Amino acid sequence: MKPIKTTLALAFLALFFSSILLAQTKPVTSDKPALVVGIVVDQMRWDYLYRYPEKYSANGFNRLLREGYSCQNTQINYSPSYTACGHTCIYTGSVPAVHGITGNNWFDYDEKKVVYCTQDTTFNSIGSTSKAGRMSPNRMLTTTITDELRLATNFGSKTIGVALKDRGSILPAGHSANAAYFYDGSVGNFITSSYYMKELPSWVNEFNRKQLPELYIRQNWNTLLPIAQYFESHEDDAPFEETFSNEKKPIFEHRVSELMKPGYDIIKATPYGNTYTLDFAKATIAGEKLGKGKYTDFLAVSLSSTDYIGHQFGPNSVEIEDCYIRLDKELEQFFNYLDANIGKGKYLLFLTADHGAAHVPDFLKRHKIPAGVFPIDTVYKQLETHLASKFGEGKWLLGYENMQFSLNRELIAKQEKDLTDVIDEVKNFIAPLPGIAKVLDLTELEEEIYEQSLKQKIANSYYPRRAGDVFVMFEPGWFEGMEKGTTHGTIYPYDTHIPLVFMGWNVKPGLDYSQVNMADIAPTLAAMLRIQEPNGSVGKIIPGLFVK
Ligand code: ZN
Ligand code: ZN
Repeated sequence: MKPIKTTLALAFLALFFSSILLAQTKPVTSDKPALVVGIVVDQMRWDYLYRYPEKYSANGFNRLLREGYSCQNTQINYSPSYTACGHTCIYTGSVPAVHGITGNNWFDYDEKKVVYCTQDTTFNSIGSTSKAGRMSPNRMLTTTITDELRLATNFGSKTIGVALKDRGSILPAGHSANAAYFYDGSVGNFITSSYYMKELPSWVNEFNRKQLPELYIRQNWNTLLPIAQYFESHEDDAPFEETFSNEKKPIFEHRVSELMKPGYDIIKATPYGNTYTLDFAKATIAGEKLGKGKYTDFLAVSLSSTDYIGHQFGPNSVEIEDCYIRLDKELEQFFNYLDANIGKGKYLLFLTADHGAAHVPDFLKRHKIPAGVFPIDTVYKQLETHLASKFGEGKWLLGYENMQFSLNRELIAKQEKDLTDVIDEVKNFIAPLPGIAKVLDLTELEEEIYEQSLKQKIANSYYPRRAGDVFVMFEPGWFEGMEKGTTHGTIYPYDTHIPLVFMGWNVKPGLDYSQVNMADIAPTLAAMLRIQEPNGSVGKIIPGLFVK
């Protein structure tokens, strides 16, 4: 009989070795990622993830869907589905009624004029003598997930925004950002605002000295594959596509090198704009040593060229197809860069969009699908005349932004008119026009009879000092403005159904078809990072990401 001591010792030894074995087979995970990379693809509809399956490589969008957790039914739950609101919602987990970014522009009753979301004349451009850098996030009223990361680490984390569009960089980066860089086409450089710094870091100057925009533009834009292979899109020479200015037809080869002067703005509406942005994103990671410090860093990238190209040519164009085939390859290279420089499994990446886009109305009409363009400029003038004839001479309308008419509340009070009477007059004038589904009184939205989920989206947009009084709801397929090209902004699925895929650190692959809102992204990131959610967050945590 063995002594009890020996048996116990053996048992302990067995336990000891099995625990070592367990430790070895457990995947290596740390409790924080080295880097979070947010990628917002401007105007990317959800269906683009699946739109050109034969053209996508294995390791671009398909890698995201294979290795990532995709929320297949992610919706925007407010109006308008514009760039500034989208980027702000993604990063604040909130809606315009709370974060205050009610559009790219809005009529501001405090400032008594139309203002731009990030415009701030108290700051100057850094890296340019133009006005392009006179910007700040000061009109955004809540914190972002990037702010919360900074707060959670006593400002040890670095957070930086990168995009061609100022608003695509500044709003995601947050108030307390280390930097937000954006493009100034007049000089062809990435610049910033004196809100962040007094001069550009040397690595940014070095990057700008390469003059990449000019090099890219000189290559002109031809299709990556032979054009006959673009069978998923309508003909290249479509009458409802917009040309570049001074271009005769909207067709390949787009000889952008001959159209670029003055300045280098034209790169924005070519796929090279995304290439260039990702070049700069890599330079940012290297230049700032992101992901190499003690704390989790955050790089917020937004790819703007998809939006410019989408507006000009529409979702069914060869141009958009070529743009996404190229983007797929760009993303593959960017993921490879992150694997090599940060380490696979050490960074948390998410890809989403700020909004989608409508098909071009004339393209839909060609196929007998109801659609149209609402002539807002003409209607606005007619409405002004109509109100003057009803209520007397005077400027009764102050503006029309974000599908809302702003009434002259001061004049209405001064002339002792009833606000409701003026609102009713606007409603009665607009409601019978073609393409109008409903006209809603925003000041009495509760009383309006309308489809409940759509009404809720409109209520989520209402921040009184930055909103109008009357909301114009178009029929599906309709939008205001131009006859050629397309836009977004409505609360219909083509504008509001966006991709959302998480990949990397602590993410298990999965396809989730439950309804997720854009506002859920930031609180979900907060839960993953174990930090506080942004202070105006109204989103919910996406539960599927936490199932072990
Ligand atoms: Zn956008
Ligand atoms: Zn747009």
